[in-house]
Amino acid sequence: MNWYSGLNLIAQGLRGHRGWEPAWRSATPKPRYDVIIVGGGGHGLATAYYLARNHGVTNVAVIEKGWIGGGNSGRNTTVIRSNYYYRESADLYEFSLKLYERLARELNYNIMFSQRGMIVTAHSRHDMELSARWAGAMRRNGVDTDMLDVSEIADRVPALNVSPRARFPVVGGFVQKRAGTARHDAVVWGYARAASALGVDIVEGCEVKGFVRSPSGSVVGIETSMGRIVADKVGMAVAGHSSVLAGMAGFRLPVTSYALQAFVSEPLKPALDTVVLSLATGMYISQSDKGGLVIGGGLDRYSSYAQRGNAPVIRDVVGSVAEQFPPFRRVRLLRHWAGIVDVVPDSSPVIGETPVPGLYLNCGWGTGGFKAIPVGGWTLAHHIATGTPHPVARPFQLERFKTGALIDEAAASGIAH
Ligand SMILES: Cc1cc2nc3c(=O)[nH]c(=O)nc-3n(C[C@H](O)[C@H](O)[C@H](O)COP(=O)(O)OP(=O)(O)OC[C@H]3O[C@@H](n4cnc5c(N)ncnc54)[C@H](O)[C@@H]3O)c2cc1C
Repeated sequence: MNWYSGLNLIAQGLRGHRGWEPAWRSATPKPRYDVIIVGGGGHGLATAYYLARNHGVTNVAVIEKGWIGGGNSGRNTTVIRSNYYYRESADLYEFSLKLYERLARELNYNIMFSQRGMIVTAHSRHDMELSARWAGAMRRNGVDTDMLDVSEIADRVPALNVSPRARFPVVGGFVQKRAGTARHDAVVWGYARAASALGVDIVEGCEVKGFVRSPSGSVVGIETSMGRIVADKVGMAVAGHSSVLAGMAGFRLPVTSYALQAFVSEPLKPALDTVVLSLATGMYISQSDKGGLVIGGGLDRYSSYAQRGNAPVIRDVVGSVAEQFPPFRRVRLLRHWAGIVDVVPDSSPVIGETPVPGLYLNCGWGTGGFKAIPVGGWTLAHHIATGTPHPVARPFQLERFKTGALIDEAAASGIAH
């Protein structure tokens, strides 16, 4: 694997850039692996990487039906934060944020993680009450946060209309300063490159169509568009298609799939140096390093597998930006797209075993799994390799939907899901 550094860049430049190797090997599948991971998004690739790096399990394949990062991992709005309500979630997302803080160095890949902070704005005294409780819970759980008054928000976000006469007047809010954004493709490519260097096979253009079962019912392989592949264990991290794959394995998941849309504008000069989320309107906005405003809103109101946008959401989200950020009213939108997210009743993820022996699952991240790619991969790899849940993932087992030990993060999930 080429080591990426300034020195190497100069050396390669002097040789006409002819010495670079592909970042990862494009593999054709072998007949047998110790572990197969279905889904080449961030979570699947991170699981494969940590299986190899943390547990020495290198006979691993990642099977992706399209191209790596072609699902939600390459379609999201790149916000990373750990500002959840319950202790279980704080432990999980803080673990992830801490892994993100050293990820570029570990993977030798610039993921462009920028800890520019995230401000949640409150528009009424009810929003403010919720914000105070939310921030209080974060502090109790050891996650950094500060309450903000209107003047502090106005100083930090000059483009925001904080006037009491505004349609959505800002009455205060709170900030997590360690939150921020990272380049989503770079996270996918960084994990792919590091996993490949440790021996993981990355197979693109290979669709999983079924599971191979032993006489006792365990999963012992997969049926794919490239034929049968045998494995001791299979993990799946297929986000919006989790219930489709579970159906192939013969069980049902408490998952509903929805389209979630996002937008990017034409590039502007620097105008917004933090992430802003408006509680009442569900709109959030940041500015990318290229200068585009990256904008998100709520889920579509009906379930769907259609990865495309629609007019009612454009109207709602763009209207909300125009009301709250008057200087952005004349900015033109460049692109608009959707991804399919997997929503569970308590808005918290599922990481661990399925009812079928030999088959493991990572799903249920809804609108917020980009921030959790490192921890999702770390903890699923731990479960597959050791047979026991990782301590931070223990509360997030599928069996909670039977026991009733739900972790209901609906109110603190940012974009409700
Ligand atoms: C518009 C939008 C904005 C978002 N914004 C944020 C945000 O700001 N912050 C945040 O934390 N999260 C955000 N999210 C959520 C986040 O993107 C996802 O939770 C996360 O990327 C899920 O990663 P994954 O690896 O599980 O799934 P994916 O990246 O979707 O990867 C799953 C892969 O499985 C593959 N697959 C499916 N079926 C099969 C099959 N049969 N055979 C083989 N392969 C298969 C797919 O092709 C896909 O590549 C957003 C999502 C969207 C759609």
